[in-house]
Amino acid sequence: MQTHAKVVIIGGGVVGCSILFHLAKHGWKDVVLLERSELASGSSWHAAGQIHTISSDPNISRLQGYTINLYKELEELSGQSVGHHPTGGFYLASSPERLDYLKQERSKARYMGLDQEFISLQEVAEMHPLIDPSKYLGALWDPIDGYIDPSSVTHAYAKSARQYGAQYHRNTPVIETNPRADGSWDVVTPNGTINAEMIVNAAGLWAREVGHLAGIDLPVQPMEHHYLITETIPEIEAHGKELPCGIDYESNLYFRQEQQGLLLGTYEPSATPWKVEGTPLDFGHELLPPDLDRIADRLKLASERIPALGRAGIKNVVNGPFTFGPDGNPMIGPVPGMKNYWAAVGVMAGFCQAGGVGLCLAEWMIEGEPSIDVWAMDIARFGEFATHEYGTIKSAENYTRRFILTYPNEELPAGRRQKTTALYDRLVARGAVMGTGFGLEHVLWFADKPENAHETPTFRRSNAFEYVADEVRAVRTGVGAVEIANFANHEFKGPGAGAFLDRMLAGRLPKVGRLNLTPMLTPKGKLYGDLTVARLDEDTFYVFGSGAAQEMHRRWFDMHMPDNGVSYRNRSDELHGIAISGPRSRELLSRITRDDVSAQGLRFRDIRRTAVGGVPVILARISFSGELGFEIYCAPQYQVKLCEQIEDAGRDLELKLYGARTLLSLRLEKGWGVWTLDFRPDFTAVESGLDAFVAFDKEADFIGKQAVLTQRDKGPEKKLVTMVMGTDDIDVTHDEAIFHNGECVGYVTSGGFAHHVQKSVALGYVATALAKDGEAFEIELLGEMKPAKIVAEPLYDSIGERMRS
Ligand SMILES: Cc1cc2nc3c(=O)[nH]c(=O)nc-3n(C[C@H](O)[C@H](O)[C@H](O)COP(=O)(O)OP(=O)(O)OC[C@H]3O[C@@H](n4cnc5c(N)ncnc54)[C@H](O)[C@@H]3O)c2cc1C
Repeated sequence: MQTHAKVVIIGGGVVGCSILFHLAKHGWKDVVLLERSELASGSSWHAAGQIHTISSDPNISRLQGYTINLYKELEELSGQSVGHHPTGGFYLASSPERLDYLKQERSKARYMGLDQEFISLQEVAEMHPLIDPSKYLGALWDPIDGYIDPSSVTHAYAKSARQYGAQYHRNTPVIETNPRADGSWDVVTPNGTINAEMIVNAAGLWAREVGHLAGIDLPVQPMEHHYLITETIPEIEAHGKELPCGIDYESNLYFRQEQQGLLLGTYEPSATPWKVEGTPLDFGHELLPPDLDRIADRLKLASERIPALGRAGIKNVVNGPFTFGPDGNPMIGPVPGMKNYWAAVGVMAGFCQAGGVGLCLAEWMIEGEPSIDVWAMDIARFGEFATHEYGTIKSAENYTRRFILTYPNEELPAGRRQKTTALYDRLVARGAVMGTGFGLEHVLWFADKPENAHETPTFRRSNAFEYVADEVRAVRTGVGAVEIANFANHEFKGPGAGAFLDRMLAGRLPKVGRLNLTPMLTPKGKLYGDLTVARLDEDTFYVFGSGAAQEMHRRWFDMHMPDNGVSYRNRSDELHGIAISGPRSRELLSRITRDDVSAQGLRFRDIRRTAVGGVPVILARISFSGELGFEIYCAPQYQVKLCEQIEDAGRDLELKLYGARTLLSLRLEKGWGVWTLDFRPDFTAVESGLDAFVAFDKEADFIGKQAVLTQRDKGPEKKLVTMVMGTDDIDVTHDEAIFHNGECVGYVTSGGFAHHVQKSVALGYVATALAKDGEAFEIELLGEMKPAKIVAEPLYDSIGERMRS
């Protein structure tokens, strides 16, 4: 065995082998995979092997399409059959809500280059005569769905990697991973030690144990899972043609043909986490004892929908464990806080996803960034809040909800109140409906009383609609207050802080006491942050950004941090606060501070340390509402006092508390995008319009400078636009297809109802040639084409007079 490698991958399941293949294919030959036993010795060997494209995130669906289309190439390269049966597959809905979901999925598929279409129930019955079509309302068809042989796929990846010059060693368990001072890792095995520039934890069922070797606690959890295989079914023999695969959502089933019988798998109504205390090191080639009682209800439903099942004998029952992450999506990428340590864990649908995971990780390692936004799979979407216990609770929730519909306005119940602010009880007592982001509870909207503080999950406008309308009215006409704890605050101090941020941020650094908006870019000019940078004194800066992206940004800052001259702290949990906005917000503020907060005393974009409500704060004159507004940050221990003071001072001004839904509605009227939706690494600064905040002429060689200059000179191919839509009781959320003259030309990135201007609004990217004021489009909303028209100017206060008043 060699003693040095550029990359060592730990784990020879389908995920590790795919990473090995993609690294080698993309040019890195000095890569080696270590497998403790034989390849596919974890969950990979006993998978059902069904492959499909639909997933919770459009970019993951796109990558699932990539994975499935890769199987032909793997067979050719490796000379090994992967047992690919491209039977096509249907997704079956038996409730109107699920049919709505499928319509939405089809809309997404249009711009992802996937070929999904609705087929009639008669066609379903013709293709799959065992199904009782009367049980369903509709079916979406995807021609590339099917199934493969899991073990063969794993070996085909490994053999193909070898064709490209990579190596793998079986029977080589990794027993230690020791970091060296130069950032490399010593990977210790009984057969010798390899010094690697980078290591990848792809240990599947043992991801936690391999993580522990480096002191990392990964919030992933194996879950037990059953499928069964029937004896020969005469109807299948008689049919003569291979049956398509299927997913039946309401009964939580997936099924496919296996020889002349059926394979039927189900996600149990209550999850069974396996080995919470840790995966035994000697586990591997055995299965778990089946417990058919746990899936009896599901089997009963199955035989109502596929009656032949009720008559068929069961040939084999498989109960095997596989690993879930807290939200059911993979966790990949550089582990924040670690040097050269990569993860590819929690991949729960490896035969649909491993190709995409391998591709993105290889691009990320070799080129420094993946070619598409992988936020939905990025390990940095979790932070220290995602403990092992949290991981187990959320993984279990996810397992049971695998095929259960989650509505766009729905907040899932497990693992709640993991992080709360000092105001939590106070806000709940005032009727707050809470959501959660990065583990922290935050207000979505306020009901009139706590008894009414719940929201009906729906694709359409919910019972929150009128409450949000009231909150918007208060902000536009009087004054409103919103807790601001779910933003990230990054603090940079020291003589090198200015130079460091000048390189990290594409915008201009502010003078002392001022703040600026700025994008942060990747070397390829893609958006990596939509931030506000404030300078408190010559050498102290705060960077405010998306709370959800705080670990992703910390990782980015760490990666580029010089050895000395700058000290950095993520202060997101140490600086909470309250923002007040509306035409009467200055009047309110002036009652609780001795500062001069007049238009001249505190100018738009001023920031300072002072006291408000008698507590020490950082006061900034800025607002995401498009109104006159102020953000007041304080340490958590002062937040209750600050809130009391604001509420007392605002009583006769009819101050109204508001939540995130109102903020999101207000910003639509200004045409402002938000991070993770409209602004993310799928788009460039020039495409998004954030180039307005790029300091093209600044001296500093900021990251992405060359790329953004080229993009500006060339002009963008697509642009972010705001559209007003013709709809009644429904608004877009995100990912709906945009049509122009019958052709899909883009997709919606965010939207909703703009209550003050009384318009349904959608933001999305369309070809630059079409990005003109008044240009007409259609947006596919739950299967119906709705008219939409570009509005070039903000719908509210187009010259920004009110913010600056
Ligand atoms: C019953 C069942 C049905 C399923 N059906 C499907 C399906 O139809 N479609 C689908 O897409 N997915 C399915 N899955 C999920 C799929 O099996 C997993 O997503 C996939 O196997 C995960 O692969 P992996 O490489 O991450 O992990 P694993 O397969 O667990 O591989 C990890 C590897 O790492 C090795 N390893 C661990 N520790 C060390 C160490 N210290 N040193 C060296 N090597 C080490 C192990 O020996 C193992 O080979 C199913 C799973 C189950 C259990």
